[in-house]
Order: sequence, then C-alpha cells, then structure tokens
Amino acid sequence: MLIFNTLTRRLEELKPRDGRRLKIFVCGPTVYDYIHIGNGRTFVFFDAAVKYLRYRGYSVFYLQNITDLDDKIINRAKETGTEPSVLARRFFEAYLTDMARVHADAVSYYAFATDFIREIANQVRRLLRMGVAYVAKDGVYFDVSTFKDYGKLSGQKLDQVMHMVRHEMSASKRNPEDFALWKFTDKHEEGWNYKWGRGRPGWHIEDTAITEEMLGKTYDIHGGGTDLIFPHHEGEIAIMRTLSGNKKMARYWIHSGMLNISNKKMAKSEGNMINLRDAAQKYGGNNLRLFFLSAGYRSELIFDESTVHEATQNLNKIQSLYDRLMQKDSFGLGRIDVPEYRNRIVTAIDKDFDFRSGIMTLLDFANRVNTEFNDLSEDACKECLHFLLEVDSFLCILNFSSGHDQYDRIIDAILEIREMLRKRKEFELSDKIRSMLSEAGVEIEDAGAKVTWRLRQ
Ligand code: AMP
Repeated sequence: MLIFNTLTRRLEELKPRDGRRLKIFVCGPTVYDYIHIGNGRTFVFFDAAVKYLRYRGYSVFYLQNITDLDDKIINRAKETGTEPSVLARRFFEAYLTDMARVHADAVSYYAFATDFIREIANQVRRLLRMGVAYVAKDGVYFDVSTFKDYGKLSGQKLDQVMHMVRHEMSASKRNPEDFALWKFTDKHEEGWNYKWGRGRPGWHIEDTAITEEMLGKTYDIHGGGTDLIFPHHEGEIAIMRTLSGNKKMARYWIHSGMLNISNKKMAKSEGNMINLRDAAQKYGGNNLRLFFLSAGYRSELIFDESTVHEATQNLNKIQSLYDRLMQKDSFGLGRIDVPEYRNRIVTAIDKDFDFRSGIMTLLDFANRVNTEFNDLSEDACKECLHFLLEVDSFLCILNFSSGHDQYDRIIDAILEIREMLRKRKEFELSDKIRSMLSEAGVEIEDAGAKVTWRLRQ
C-alpha cells in the first residue's frame, strides 16, 4: 500500500508500527452547526480509506476528535440562548445522522475535547515547565521559536510563517507566530481553574492531548483536509514533538483536497455552503458518496450538478447490475474473470487510495457482466454478486435488501408509515423511525420523493 505523505511530499510504502495494526487520527468537526458537503467530502474519503485498509487486512483503530467548546460554539450558544454543551451535543447528534446518510460509520471512537481537560492541562503544565510556553495577559502561549521544524509540514520557513500570521498578532504574544495553548476566560464563561489561570483549551493542544492519551506519543496516520495543514497541524507537531522528543508525531500525514463551489472553498465564512443533509435529501446519499469518491482525493473537487448527475448515472449502472444478478433465475455456462477485476481494483486503490480508478474498473466490470449476462452460470452469478458486495464494503454505495422477502416487506411497510408521518409534517416521529431503523442496521436513503433503504454490512 502506497501513501502520499504530506510531510515528505512523496509516495511511501505503508508500514504500520505494530504488525498489521494501524492507529489513525482524523480531525473531526466543530459542532456548532450542520456540516456542509465540503466537510462531507473529507469525512467520506477517510471513511472509505479506513474501510479499504480494513478490507486489506489491517486492524484499524480510527479516532476522531469532536471540538465541543470554542469561540464559534460559545457565540452560537449565546445567539440562540442555549448552553454551549447543549448546543454541541445537539450538533454532534446531527453530525452522526448526516454521516449515516452517506454511510460513513468507520470511526472507532469519538473523543470530545471537554472530556480531556485534565490531559490538556497536563500538557500545558509540562510545556510551561520545559520553558517553551509562557503565560501572557490573555492566555498561555507556545513559543514557536523554540521548535526548529516549525513550517516543515507546510513547506514554509519561519519568516514566511510570520508573514502569514502577522494579522493575528495579539498584544500579549511575544512573537506573532506563537499560538494559544490556553485561553483565559472570566468566571461567567465556561472554564477550568488551573494555577496559570482560569480558562479553556486552545485549538491545537486539544488534539495532541487526545492522541497522546489514546494513541501514544507517535502513531501511524494523521489526516484532515488541506486547509488544516497550517497552522493547525504545524501547531500539533510543535507541541507533541517538543513533549515527546521524538522525531515524529504521526508517521504519515494524509490531506484531502477542498471541495469548491464557483472556484471558492466551501466554507461557512464564505456563505456558500450546502448542508450535507440537504444535498443527501436532494441527490441521494449514495450518489453523493460516489460523487465524493469519483475524484482523486488530493485534488480539488468542484461541486456542480452535472458531475453529481454523472455519479448518479454510474451508480445506477452498478445498482441495476446488482439487482439483475439478484433476480436472475435462468443460467448458462458463461464465466467472468472476477479475480482479474479484483486485482485491477486493488492495484489501483493500493496506490494512494485511487478510488477514482477503482470505480472506473467497477464500471468496466458492470459492462462486461451485462454483455455476458444471459449466458452466465449460477456459480458465476454468485461470484459476481459476492464481488460487488466485497467492493461495497468500502465504497458503500449499493442498496441491498436482506434476501428475505418477508423481512423486506416489513421494512417497506415501516417506511410507508414514515412517509405518511412526513406528509403530515410529524418530523419528530419520522426521524425517530429513521434512527431506530439505523440502530437496527437499516439505513434509509431519501432522494427527493424517492425513498430506498440498504442494510449495513
Ligand atoms: P471544521 O469543522 O471546519 O474544522 O472542518 C472539519 C473537516 O472538514 C476538516 O478536516 C476540514 O479540513 C474539512 N473541510 C472544511 N471545509 C472543507 C471543504 N470546503 N472541502 C473539503 N474539506 C473541508
């Protein structure tokens, strides 16, 4: 398995630290609003990547942090007259529901920042003791000049970094590039009392405290979108490597490209967002997932309806092949060279998660099976079905039934009732049905007026 490592800017052979076990950390969302399709692209990519690694026989522990306290959460809570913790919990639940819409469920553990305050404070204490952090008027800062590799991940020299952060100069910082480890708050705001002052964590230290506690001082893979390389990931490296004295924090850094709309990054600050839940409702979660995975993960992806439409057509081809194979009841003697297609797909994706080429090969496979369809033997038919399910264990784009007619009809009946409730605008009950079915392993797909479902594998 080859991985493009942002740190070395090279394709490198994946070598886990511990046999076939991999520890992966990916920066999760700040839960103050619904996630948009840009976030969705990043999270779907890492979901498929982790599932693919599992398919290839690695045992993956996939950790994601949840930023459940920061300025944005506090401001939004004030605007809406809620407690920050209540707001964060609400949008974390919404995040999980949205992830289920695009079948992203590979995370092993969600770590909430506020559950790690002790570990964060412990890192602040050690950094102060080492003399690389200092207490200023509005918080505790990390002195970046003490870390000689600062800028290495983003390929910048310290003077370039200073140029980029100049506008962030706070009166109380020693150097413009220094970043907050701890932000002082007054007693009316959410905060924790420590001897350096009452406050709450800065951004980068949240992740290093979580990963040090759960994955250790050095682990295998750290991921996120390219927008996080600087300053977030540089900051993490500076903190963790200073604390550990190790040459590396994560051995491989994987960054996925931005999703843009009309040549601008999709971001809340740009006001050009499309919420993932609205897009999943309009285009279908499966189609959206295939759209995200159909472009090279490191390149920018432009969101436009025609590309989503193309993904939808491709998915229709794959889905209808699956449905036809399931229903086939007369057989010939024909065979398909499934191992050859498997080999082509695995070779493609083994090279830095090239799902795009893998999907093209799957479409070739669909064409081939369709051409030979009438003549296929029963065994060949089973082998093809098995292969589609195998690939779907990481692509997660197919809708499939249980194979038991009675069971399928029960689910259809429940969904009909859900539709009636939705027409009566009884959304609380209809959402309850969705979440109960999801707990039972049935994922519902709303695509416009059409509702379909699939069983989680
Ligand atoms: P945030 O909640 O903004 O910290 O973002 C959560 C994740 O979504 C991070 O990994 C970001 O890199 C990623 N992200 C944010 N905006 C975009 C975008 N427009 N396209 C792709 N990924 C994004």
